[in-house]
Amino acid sequence: MIVMKFGGSSVANAERIRHVADIVARRIAEKPVLVLSAMGDTTDHLLEAADKALNEGLVVTDSIEKLHLDTVKELGLESTGLGEVTALLKELNTLLTGISMIKELTGKTRDYLVSFGERLSVRIVAAYLNSISIQARALDSWDAGFLSDSNFSSAELEKDSWNLIPKALLPLIGGGLVPVVTGFIARDRQGNITTLGRGGSDLSATMIASALKADEAQVWKDVDGILTADPRLVKKARPVETVTYEEAAELAYFGAQVLHPRAMQPCIKTGTPVRVKNSYNPDAPGTRIVGSLDKKAGPVRAITSRKNVTLVDIVSTRMVGQHGFLAEVFTTFAEHKLSVDMVATSEVSVSLTLDADHELGALKQDLSRIASVEIRTGKAIVTIVGDVRRSSEILQRAFGTCVLLGIQVQMISQGASKVNISFIVDDTQAGEVVIALHKCFFEPLSKEERL
Ligand code: ASP
Ligand code: MG
Repeated sequence: MIVMKFGGSSVANAERIRHVADIVARRIAEKPVLVLSAMGDTTDHLLEAADKALNEGLVVTDSIEKLHLDTVKELGLESTGLGEVTALLKELNTLLTGISMIKELTGKTRDYLVSFGERLSVRIVAAYLNSISIQARALDSWDAGFLSDSNFSSAELEKDSWNLIPKALLPLIGGGLVPVVTGFIARDRQGNITTLGRGGSDLSATMIASALKADEAQVWKDVDGILTADPRLVKKARPVETVTYEEAAELAYFGAQVLHPRAMQPCIKTGTPVRVKNSYNPDAPGTRIVGSLDKKAGPVRAITSRKNVTLVDIVSTRMVGQHGFLAEVFTTFAEHKLSVDMVATSEVSVSLTLDADHELGALKQDLSRIASVEIRTGKAIVTIVGDVRRSSEILQRAFGTCVLLGIQVQMISQGASKVNISFIVDDTQAGEVVIALHKCFFEPLSKEERL
């Protein structure tokens, strides 16, 4: 059994839906369950329509209606899919009219409103699959066992879902049907529609895969999985074969094209593997995300960098060993609502990094009561994600590379998550360092270089 999740761009129009159907058709033997997002940017368009209704008293649904009706037509589904789609579009219109009249939009109503995107997309895709002789059934997630709390716009799934999902889906799968389930949305105990947060359909997919003990949760994107480096920077960047859940979470924070860390939580519980696949290159293996790697795996999975970072060096002006110094430093950052990325400390000093777009004058003034503060801008964080149990080897090779480049490393930290080693260099050097590190860890030496 596999769960296949397709995001908004994968089901953006009739052509893309045909392509998805093709990918699914080749995997029928694996008993797929489909999880879909809303078509294209429909979620954004629904939110915009809500604002228009609320603030301007206007009901504007033309583009949403056109997209879905055109797609029904282009897929040749007028006789099978049109009824349900038209009914949903009518309900949406009524809801927006209501909002435009009462001029009120609660979190509860907003979730109900955005749910139309996913409810429309699963019906169209299921109808299309049936039209090409793949027995499919569209399901709103609550009919597939999803139960959430009432935290509108960022609901958490209730534990009951773990039992409800297999109870709802296994009989369908056993009967040879392909369930096509709405991502992103759920329902609370009172029957109100909720949403799991933007991008939430990844979580819907991993939850189904984990609850069904499926072989794999496949998240279909438009890239060949997780790459060893940013391909715009490193020409020889290539897909990573396998990473751990922790490594993938770390990479997500650094902006890699992965799933949100929250989406991996159900899989971490059950050990269900996740695979990031490329819908433009469906036969490529993609990247597998698992609990632990085998011994043969190299020490490093990927190298990332983030530019435009500010480094703050804070040296205590009090007596050595004064307790409460770090507490005071962090409290001051919290008071200024500044979130810190990297930290390195010694007995009397602490260095921190922040994104450069903060105004730090007031912070500096407050901190100067207890410390001397130096602020240095134009820095970059280079991060090596990998098996930090092999940190000595990684550090030796990484810093050897920096020595060769004549680049001074300005601060180092090893993440508590045991999967990242980060260091600071000048902004202008970051590209060069990443390219050289990629060469060092991922590119086998050519014959001439070996001589
Ligand atoms: N359609 C929702 C969104 O755009 C959920 C998702 O795509 O995962 O956020
Ligand atoms: Mg979307």
